[in-house]
Parts: sequence; structure tokens; C-alpha cells
Amino acid sequence: MSLPYPTRQLYYNGQAHAASSGKTFQTINPATATPLADIQIAAHADIDTAIVAADKAFPEWSNTPPIARARILHKAAALLRERNDEIAKIETLDSGKAFTETSTVDVVTGADVLEYYANFIGGGGLNGETTQLREDAWVYTKKVPLGVCAGIGAWNYPIQIALWKSAACLAAGNTMVYKPSEYTPLHGQTLAEIYTEAGLPAGAFNVINGAGDVGAYLTSHPTIAKVSFTGQVATGMKVAGAAAGSMKYATMELGGKSPLVVCPDADLESAVDGAMMANFYSTGQVCTNGTRVFVPRSMKAAFEKRLLEKIQHVRPGPLFDEATNFGPLSSAIHYEKVVSYIRHGIETDKATLLCGGPEKPVVPKDLQAGFWVQPTVFTDCNDSMRIVKEEIFGPVMSILYYDTVDEAVKRANATELGLAAGVFTKDLNQAHRVIDQLQAGITWVNTWGESPAEMAVGGWKKSGLGVENGRRGIEAWLQNKSTLVDMSGAVVSVFAKL
Ligand code: NAD
Repeated sequence: MSLPYPTRQLYYNGQAHAASSGKTFQTINPATATPLADIQIAAHADIDTAIVAADKAFPEWSNTPPIARARILHKAAALLRERNDEIAKIETLDSGKAFTETSTVDVVTGADVLEYYANFIGGGGLNGETTQLREDAWVYTKKVPLGVCAGIGAWNYPIQIALWKSAACLAAGNTMVYKPSEYTPLHGQTLAEIYTEAGLPAGAFNVINGAGDVGAYLTSHPTIAKVSFTGQVATGMKVAGAAAGSMKYATMELGGKSPLVVCPDADLESAVDGAMMANFYSTGQVCTNGTRVFVPRSMKAAFEKRLLEKIQHVRPGPLFDEATNFGPLSSAIHYEKVVSYIRHGIETDKATLLCGGPEKPVVPKDLQAGFWVQPTVFTDCNDSMRIVKEEIFGPVMSILYYDTVDEAVKRANATELGLAAGVFTKDLNQAHRVIDQLQAGITWVNTWGESPAEMAVGGWKKSGLGVENGRRGIEAWLQNKSTLVDMSGAVVSVFAKL
């Protein structure tokens, strides 16, 4: 049967190569549960070859002056923008996200990060510092790239994740072997081709395909200097452990169960809009989702009424329809997981189902085999429920009522995770006091979800290690060299005389 996209091979040394494993898997369109393309799986020998290609490219790329590297990254960003809709279509078919999202967010926010780091290094951002110690002695520092780095992606923002990793990695002068998620691999080769067309030397960005075993082999390879991982906490712990075993640098962007605190004085309209975006955007498959919504008990009736009215604006449907703003879940296995959490919420946690549930929403006939779920809200939840404690990674909101803001903050922090948090209030002092107390690396006041290139993002506690984006993001791809120069002509020595 002919599939919508040609077979994806591996990409190294500036071109596509057939995998030597002879094995493939299929990537599936989650809206219809039909295959999109065959993907060749990398054998260990292929991974070794891709790493050798990246290692060979490292001296040339790391010695390319930052201003020349910046030019290539700018060209890649321009190509991404030119091909926005073609790439967004790939992302929509592969991940199930509505085209209204992928065409306005996924490619654009990746290209923004390329541009941000191109500007940063082109403007001297990789310069070190000089510190005068004495008249004839000083210390200077250099920011030195690490070498060959591994990038491992999750399936929810495929090309955006690939760009957030590769932009900073390449800007810093490193080379990369990237493995996309096995659920959304289509973008990998497209991105590699764009980098090549933009002028990146062969071997500087390489793509291999496969599941966790391929990722594990890549990330534990002795040539790899750094692992940048996005995925679940449990996988991140394994990957970080393997990296620590050979003293590799590691950045871990992991899951969350983030709290959104609505204060008693909050604007109701904004708070409900924020809670909707924090739970239903991308069908709830956003790592920073604010799935624990803390609402003052006094606001219960008004909050639930407005939320139920606004839920009518969630529109599942054909993914390329301009009206559609809600796609299916990304895979059959993830669909089973989310639906089982919804059932657990009803049957075992005994939470009150305000709307939604485990049944599929109404969609046209040709989409009914897809992995569709309804936007679901549980209310009157308590902190010990499983749906409140564990990351579901689907469109499932839990509303938790509270009596005092201090109580809400305490309960919001009672989790092992610390990715994101937010507050809705009109009181300036309260906004900053609450944000200051919330234990999370990414926080918002009176908004939710925006993550621009300038903003360093990363989780606290078990939600991660290090940050991506912003000025701090590039530091994670560099090592420091400090040099002390003494021009006095005499070495101070305790061994100079008897
Ligand atoms: P996952 O952990 O199942 O897989 C992520 C990637 O790791 C995949 O490419 C997978 O093949 C690979 N992998 C699996 N086992 C591996 C191993 N032992 N060694 C190396 N690689 C291995 O995660 P997922 O289900 O694809 O993604 C969803 C998760 O990602 C959610 O928890 C979400 O919160 C998180 N996420 C976090 C961020 C962030 O920035 N913090 C962003 C997006 C997604």
C-alpha cells in the first residue's frame, strides 16, 4: 500500500542513508489511525556511523567564527519560515495537532529560537571575560563547545523540541545526533535537509530513528559529551543516570503536574481563559499544563458556570479545518492511558465529573477510528486523588477548592514535580508574593503557556535539570576555560631558596 509520505531513512554526513537493520516501524496519523510512512530503524552500527560523522564535523564547525555560524542559522530560520505550512502539515498529520496550532506556533517558535541564538552569537554572546588581578596579571575566560551532543525528543512538540535543542547546540559550536520520538519522527529528516541547504557542514546535524533502545545506545555512547533529553520523569531518571555514569553533561526537560492558583480577586474571565489554555491547548499534551486548578471556594459557582460555557468553544474536527482547535491524542497507547485516568477519576478517586468523560467526542465519520477524547473537568477534587497527583498529559482538568491563599500555595507545592506554576490576581503585591512562594522553574502571572525564545525554561525538583532558551540556555552547551596570565617575569615559588 502506498503511504502519504515516502520512507524515512537516517540522515548523517549531510545526506540520507538506508538503515542497516533492515527493520522499520510505521508512524500513524492519530486523527484517523492510519499509517503515514515507514521509518527505518537505526542499528547500533548506524548510530556509531552517525556519531563518527558528528565527531568529524566538530573541528570545522567549532572553529567556524560565530558570525559565520550565525549566518547559517539565520538562513535555516528563513527556510523554516518559508516552508512553514508544508512543515506544519507534517506536524499536524504526525502529532494530531490542529493545523491552526502547528501553522502558527510549532514551526515559528522553533525558528524564533534559531534566530535568537544566531543574533546572540553574532553579537558577541560567546565572548568570555577578562579580570585584571594585578598590574601584570589577569584571568581570561573562554566559552568552549562540548563536542558531539545527543538530542532526544518527545512527541508533543516534535520540530519545536528539535529546534530548541539543535539551535543552542549548534550556535555554541557543537555537533548533534538527534533522535525524534518514535511516535512523531517525520520532521527529523526535513529539518536535517533544511540545515544542509542553509550551509551547515555535513555531519554537524544528524538524525537517527528508533525507540527507547536506540535512544539508550546513543545517550550512553562514549563519544557523546552531553545529553539533552525531553520526555517523562521516569525515562529522564534513567537517561540522567546513564549520563552521570560517564560524566556527561545533561539537560533534562521532564513532566509536570503544575498548579494554577486563582486568587479571590482574580478577573473571572481571565482566570477561566487561563485554565482552559492550561488544560486543553494541544489537547492537554503540553508539559507545562496547569492541571491542578486552585479556585477559592467562594468563586465555585461562577467559575464552573463560565467554564462550562467556554468548554463549548473547544472544537474537535477535521485537523485542517480553520474552525478546529482541538485534535486527537497523539497515539493509541497514549489514548488508552488518558482514558484509563479518566475512568480512574470517576470510578476509584470518586471525583465529581463536571463535563467530558471517557467516551469519544462527536467527530465526522472518517475520523471516528482516531484517538479522540473529550475535554474533561473533575471538580471538588482533593490532593490525594491519583488524577490530581500524577501527570495525565491529556485534556483533564482537576479543580481544587481552597479557603485561604496561603493554604492554596502550600497545597500547590505539595508535589515532587516543579515544572510550571501560575497565579491569577489583580493585586500586584499578591501576584509577586504567590509567585515567589511557588516551587517551579516556569511561572506566569495572569497568563498561561507562552514560552518565547528569550525566556529560559526548565523544571525544578523531579521536573528536570537545567534550562533551555534565553541567555542561560546556551550556557548548558558550553564549558568554561579560565586562564591566569602572569607577566611579572618571576614565578612565586615556595621552593626558590633554602
Ligand atoms: P518518553 O520519556 O516516553 O520518551 C521521550 C524520548 O525518550 C523518546 O524519544 C523515547 O524514544 C526516548 N527514550 C525512551 N527510553 C529511553 C532510554 N532508556 N534512553 C534514551 N532515550 C529513551 O516521553 P514521551 O511520552 O515521548 O513524552 C511525554 C513526556 O515529555 C511528558 O511527561 C511531558 O511532560 C514531557 N515533556 C517535557 C517537556 C519539557 O520541556 N519539560 C516538553 C515536552 C514534553
